[in-house]
Amino acid sequence: MVSAEQTRARILDGRVTSDQIKLEVAAEVARWSAERAVKPRLAAVLVGDDDASAVYVRNKVRACAEVGIESDQRRLPASTTTEELLSLIRELNQSEDVDGILIQLPLPGQIDEATIIKAIDPEKDVDAFHPSNVGLLAMGRPRFVPCTPAGIIELLDRNQIGIAGKNACVVGRSQIVGRPVASLLLQRDATVTICHSHTKNLSEICLQGDLIVAALGKPEFVTADMVKEGAVIIDVGITRLPDSSKKSGFALKGDVHFASVSPKCSYITPVPGGVGPMTIAALMKNTFKACMDKN
Ligand code: NDP
Repeated sequence: MVSAEQTRARILDGRVTSDQIKLEVAAEVARWSAERAVKPRLAAVLVGDDDASAVYVRNKVRACAEVGIESDQRRLPASTTTEELLSLIRELNQSEDVDGILIQLPLPGQIDEATIIKAIDPEKDVDAFHPSNVGLLAMGRPRFVPCTPAGIIELLDRNQIGIAGKNACVVGRSQIVGRPVASLLLQRDATVTICHSHTKNLSEICLQGDLIVAALGKPEFVTADMVKEGAVIIDVGITRLPDSSKKSGFALKGDVHFASVSPKCSYITPVPGGVGPMTIAALMKNTFKACMDKN
């Protein structure tokens, strides 16, 4: 029987950890840039007028400024065609000044996302979505690790939460989060089960998890009855729900029902302030790596 004291969850504060990482990256960037008289540069491309995407890009650009990475924000209208976006990517691929290229997803429906991702120079693909980077990650020899999965692993590591030997349950199998985080957990010797919309007995599978990564985009989906005592809970979900009590008019909800799950688990990430900031810190590391690899 686990006592109440043992089950009081510790909050995995992604803001504090990402601030620490950004300070470390800033120091390395400053030293490296001073030696070579060259600064890393990220090109962040935003297509259309989606509010949430605009906020994400703004936060990424702000983080660049904090760590001494130059950034260019390229905004294209919602009516942009695949060919027009390809033309910008070709320009960024060829530019000597640009080390990392970030295309904020999702793209408007008329744009062929797979074609766009494949067009990015893999050596500038700091999101690690290009097929060759996906392949390298799957082989355990990553050039870049996708930012959200990288941020999750770093948050666990920096909080001395062991991965090897754990039963890890990943809910969601997207190319961006579910699959790569499952691959990384496997490489770190977890026993990994990936769940998706066709999974039967999902609650029972989650209940076996020493570690649950919830990345399905369904607010408060994971409830206390699906979580075993003392599990580690990583909540990747971010959904905007209307909330008239907030100045912004919306509240951000994770995929985990925080109020019921947090008394039962050992560690949990909040939303906001958990995985989101870690994703940005990982992007800074990838952009700096792209620059170092090039120079
Ligand atoms: P996708 O929509 O691409 O994928 C969702 C996955 O969840 C799919 O694999 C889907 O299964 C699965 N799923 C959907 N419904 C269920 C269900 N009822 N039971 C089990 N599985 C289900 O989402 P993303 O991976 O891109 O994003 C997931 C969430 O994470 C979103 O809220 C997103 O906003 C957030 N996010 C947060 C980031 C951060 O930095 N914090 C970064 C990226 C995303 P199937 O494959 O069968 O359809």
